[in-house]
Amino acid sequence: MENRRSFLSKATLGLATGASSASAASVAAPQENAAGERYELSNESVRVALDSEGRLMELTNRQTGNAYLATASRHAPWRMYYRWNTPLDGALELEIPTDGQKGRVRRQGNSLELSYESLTGAMPQTGKTRELQIGLLVRVALEGDRLIWTARIDNREKDKGLEISELWLPWIYGIGNMGMGPEADALYWPTRGGRRIEAPYTKVTTATGPAQPTGFGSNPTWSYSDTGAPDYRLAYPYPACMQWFTFNNGQEGLYFGSHDKTLMSTVLNVASGSGERRSSGGAGPARAGADAEKAMSASIVKFPFVSAGETWNSEPVVVQLYRGDWHEAARTYRTWADTWMRKPDPPQWVRRTPGWSGSTLKGQSGRIRSTYADLPDVLKRAQAVGVNLIKIDGWNKEGFDDYYPEYSLDEAMGGEAALKKALAQIKQAGGKSFLYTQGQLIDPASEWYRTKGQRFAAKDIWGYEYRETYGGNGSGAFMGVMRNKWFGVACPAAPGWGDQLVSQARMVLGFGAQGVFYDQLGGGPPYICFSKEHQHSKPSLAVGPWKVKNFQQLREVVKAHDPDAILAIELVADCYAGWVDLIHSEGIGFYVDPESFGEMFRYTFPEAIVTNRVQGPEQSDRKKQFGHAFSLGLRFEGAGRAQDPYMTRLIALYNKHADILLEGRFVDTEGFLCDNSRVSSHALVAGNRMAVTLWNPTDVAQRAGVLASGYQLETAEWQDPSWSGPDHWIMPGDVAVLVFRRS
Ligand SMILES: [Zn+2]
Repeated sequence: MENRRSFLSKATLGLATGASSASAASVAAPQENAAGERYELSNESVRVALDSEGRLMELTNRQTGNAYLATASRHAPWRMYYRWNTPLDGALELEIPTDGQKGRVRRQGNSLELSYESLTGAMPQTGKTRELQIGLLVRVALEGDRLIWTARIDNREKDKGLEISELWLPWIYGIGNMGMGPEADALYWPTRGGRRIEAPYTKVTTATGPAQPTGFGSNPTWSYSDTGAPDYRLAYPYPACMQWFTFNNGQEGLYFGSHDKTLMSTVLNVASGSGERRSSGGAGPARAGADAEKAMSASIVKFPFVSAGETWNSEPVVVQLYRGDWHEAARTYRTWADTWMRKPDPPQWVRRTPGWSGSTLKGQSGRIRSTYADLPDVLKRAQAVGVNLIKIDGWNKEGFDDYYPEYSLDEAMGGEAALKKALAQIKQAGGKSFLYTQGQLIDPASEWYRTKGQRFAAKDIWGYEYRETYGGNGSGAFMGVMRNKWFGVACPAAPGWGDQLVSQARMVLGFGAQGVFYDQLGGGPPYICFSKEHQHSKPSLAVGPWKVKNFQQLREVVKAHDPDAILAIELVADCYAGWVDLIHSEGIGFYVDPESFGEMFRYTFPEAIVTNRVQGPEQSDRKKQFGHAFSLGLRFEGAGRAQDPYMTRLIALYNKHADILLEGRFVDTEGFLCDNSRVSSHALVAGNRMAVTLWNPTDVAQRAGVLASGYQLETAEWQDPSWSGPDHWIMPGDVAVLVFRRS
């Protein structure tokens, strides 16, 4: 017993100092030691064990017999940081190291409890530590195939400048693979619509250099490292569309779900085994050696800001060791979401819409491209290809992306009477329109900002405003290259911001539109807001819960005006999606990319009506963009701008089979078999019918056949209308639809 203890502390020391002995330590089998030091929970599904210092020693899926830890865990399964004043008299982020704390483990029924009366934390001066009057209780309960992790933090400090800012729970260190080798695993990662990352171990353990930003345009505040170089870190709500991820090899997997109804701003985190962030040039050879072990750490990060005198109880994080493919993990999350999240309830005309056609009247430079009187013709062109909805941007005098949130009508575009007339004509022609407004950006150039807007802006820890920039798109260099416009971002909990959003809906609906659009409202980073003038109880509760409150108010106003009117937003996040009728997407999952995996959101929340987004490295390939969208049942953005036989066919298929392709439930690959894996195949079900969409994303013709056991083929839509049967050729880029009826 004594020997083992000293061995482990040596190993810990080795890691901390970057000594090369660390990798040797990882070879030691963790479970072979001393009964009496081991605290275990076990049932027919899972076995988990901690040692007497709280280190995670075993994590086994007993249904399959596979142990998921590759290395002896060197740490207790948590990590913590505190904030102490400012850099003038403290630091914004000080680690409370997991190692070297005096913890106690005990078993309580089906739970293990790891408790600390007090903790030792780092001081701003390197190497110095201090005792913190902060208690921590980490509890893990075993329920079926799930481990439910919760924590309690007691801040008994007197110093008001000292608060627990960050907790990683659980921090599962040493994840190896799911039983078929690291190369067989994929990480299903909820960035935007979803990303499927093969062999994530390789990507995080071999990455060098700084994090690669995957920002929104050139916007640094939207930049997140979610490419695996050197780690995957993602904020929720948005750019994470859901607060779960899973490792899976097709047969079994490990689910991490933050089952947090408070919608606290959260970070999902998957990193190399050491869990340390490397910056460019910072990875020494010793550290690189330690990282070479094929293991990862995974965690859910919360920002509780537990102040002096406060106690905080976390929401649960569920770690599930399951059998089956990734859909099982999606169902776990969905089942939890069903207990409290609102489901979408859009009007039927939206459920049956194949997409919209867009028009921008006045651009960012102020140049007028078209006027209100031109709008009925936009609808006419859209209707010619089967699209009946138009989204109108830049209709306001201020122009697109200028002077938010000021909106007025422009005499140069025809004035109020002309806009009302145009919208009425659209309605008379059987069409629908919805008008753009901005959901959160505040332009510091606006009078509104100067007179009252500053207090609405989200504030960073310095008390300054968070800022985002969006470039112009003029053909000259001034707008295209030199423009540097920076916006403030409204805190959803700022008093009166909800009323501002409502005023935008009332205005737009008052013009005669059938809907209001709020750009960015469905996402945007969940800024941790430090304003003392806002209504949030904690900085990390500024966005999620308050956006939901604002959505509730907005929805009431829009539906009271007309139950058929729509509330539409940009950006996809599960907790907001249920409040709105139509979502304009952004990012990977919604465009073509080798790791794009929009199935992740679509399968988990199939009721949300989401458009595609023409973006990414292949954005000039419209055929690929819209074929991908069709295969996932995404509605088309900007459809009907031009006559294009490919698009026209896709829209015609959507319209002809709207009852199932648009109103059916997306079930991904369930319920049928396609005999050609190079063809992308997905199913939708409605009542006793199932439609399978086939899309050939390759450069050569593919033959594909579909077998749907218990179903009979009702209709086959191959490229050549004379073709029939469940098996045929699909030309490059082409799509097919097979509709089956349950026999
Ligand atoms: Zn705020």
